[in-house]
Amino acid sequence: MADKDFRIPREIQWINVLYYIYIHYAAVVGLYLAIFQAKWITIVYTLCLIYISVLGLNAGAHRLWAHSSYKAHTALKLFLAVGQTLMCQGSLYNWVLEHRLHHKYFGTEKDPFNPNLGILFAYFKNKCLSKHPDNEKLLNTVEVTDLLKDNVVMWQNRLYWLLAPLLIAVTVFLPLELWGESFWCCVLFAGFFRSIVSLHYNWIMNAATVIWGLEPLNKYSIQTNLVFVVNKSLWPQYHYTLPWDYQTGEYGNYNHGFVTAHIRVWAALRLVTDLRTIDTDGIRKAMIETSKTAQEFNQCAEKYAFDPNLLKIKCELDLERIPY
Ligand SMILES: [Zn+2]
Repeated sequence: MADKDFRIPREIQWINVLYYIYIHYAAVVGLYLAIFQAKWITIVYTLCLIYISVLGLNAGAHRLWAHSSYKAHTALKLFLAVGQTLMCQGSLYNWVLEHRLHHKYFGTEKDPFNPNLGILFAYFKNKCLSKHPDNEKLLNTVEVTDLLKDNVVMWQNRLYWLLAPLLIAVTVFLPLELWGESFWCCVLFAGFFRSIVSLHYNWIMNAATVIWGLEPLNKYSIQTNLVFVVNKSLWPQYHYTLPWDYQTGEYGNYNHGFVTAHIRVWAALRLVTDLRTIDTDGIRKAMIETSKTAQEFNQCAEKYAFDPNLLKIKCELDLERIPY
């Protein structure tokens, strides 16, 4: 029986369900307060915190640490680690571990965000149901040598339960101290609402292939299938083929995302080096090598990865030209 056809029984985790209901309720009240009571500077401030969190998660936890798409200066690493800590979703180490497990067993019952169980499971039901019975053993099979050597990751992991509450307390009550914002606006808007927005940003990323990915054999044009605001494409699936490409599009796009733009700016400022991407010819060569040597495509493709900044050329990767 194929793994995707086998369904393990999952029990509802009522504590998690109640927790998510509670924090969503608090966030909705926070949004109400933001609309009718909060000072405009608190709204700008909260949006800035969300922005930093998103960079910490996407450019940091995902592209830098989970997939080693580039190398970063320690100062930038610290900034991204702070952003990720603000999200209140566990330490960088644990996030990367789970994300690597997701890639390793993508689309199977062992995948913590298995998209074959539907959009609701990939998006949030996985948080409210019991995990795979062998989840702990599976996590131990994930390669983490690079993380163990990374001082920022290990430092944040060790001090997470001290750092996270401290950072949350400082950022939540700063508006109260600096410009006299009300206590409840601080807690419910700058605290809960901010946290919920970044939480959903993360959850959407886990379910990207279901939301933005084209179905197999879908005949719609990659370029024109604009359905409301969701531009479906094969780029989310591409990420699971070559996850180390720094231009990866978590949200159904490739090389035009704002996180990719940030990485390019940081590269220009020398805060980032060793970017890894690939062009169409590299993909073709890797496919030929895979067919000749029976090596994994990902391994063959890594040999043709290059840093576009070193070559001073614009990287073009046209998915429509690649046979699949
Ligand atoms: Zn990934």
